[in-house]
Amino acid sequence: MNKHGLSRDIPHGVEGEVRRRCKFSCILCDSGLYHFHHFDPPFAEAIRHDPNGITLLCGTCHDYVERGLKSNAEIVEADRRRVNETPVANVFLSVQKPFYTVLGSLIFPTEGPLVTHNGQPVLAVTASELGKLEITADLIDINGQSRLLIEDNAIRIHPDSWDVKVQGPVIRMWSKPKSVFAEIVLHPPNGIHIRDFAIRLGNWIIDTRERGRFSARRIESDNPENICGGIFAAGAIVSEGPLCLNQEGFSMGPSCIDMSYDSKRLYQLADEGKMSQLIREITGPRPRPDGGLVKIQIVPPQN
Ligand SMILES: [Zn+2]
Repeated sequence: MNKHGLSRDIPHGVEGEVRRRCKFSCILCDSGLYHFHHFDPPFAEAIRHDPNGITLLCGTCHDYVERGLKSNAEIVEADRRRVNETPVANVFLSVQKPFYTVLGSLIFPTEGPLVTHNGQPVLAVTASELGKLEITADLIDINGQSRLLIEDNAIRIHPDSWDVKVQGPVIRMWSKPKSVFAEIVLHPPNGIHIRDFAIRLGNWIIDTRERGRFSARRIESDNPENICGGIFAAGAIVSEGPLCLNQEGFSMGPSCIDMSYDSKRLYQLADEGKMSQLIREITGPRPRPDGGLVKIQIVPPQN
């Protein structure tokens, strides 16, 4: 609380306004991890949380300001300049072996291309010669408007998003008010969980929005309502190879599907970063109350 009785808690609506004006990143270095900083007037003098007097600064840049190594006039100038800039905010990922990529309820425990469209990888985890892992993604949302771009192990946040919030290890993105288009949960250094996302790849829609389940629907391009095939997983799939989509159909690596695996359990384990336990539970046979086993292997036909 300051001398005017103003609390540090900024109302949600004001925070959203500041995030949008500052394009979801530190106005000095474009880091996607930031604090809210009152600069006009400084917090000590503020009588209300004015969205035009608050800006975004990352920890390092904020430190420069607090230590007097950067003047308030520079912050004012950088903040006013922001409106004409189109920065791409960065959130750097820490990525190490073993690395698990979870797309809704589709789990990839391996490296290599994970999802390809017409032969081009759109989601991949690759190892360099030195063994360093790199995750890349280039995913277009269902309206073709916003996309999830990961390159050089950094999530690049699109400045045209409606809102993007980084809370703890969770990055949530909105394409318009009340419309989340992706939620990414990071599990450094061993995993990433991409969910609540509908991805458009040509005549395919990959959807993870329905209770966290994975589906890939092939649609007629002139009528997206008309579904002409695809993969619909009621449970969870562990795939030891890429999901390859093209105009006519799809193929998958050797996979294990657990139709009864409930997405609540999957989310709980994925949220806790217990990816290897998750995979063990899905790929290992589990007795059911009726004595039956729930594990089904899918091995795609050899070409
Ligand atoms: Zn910064």
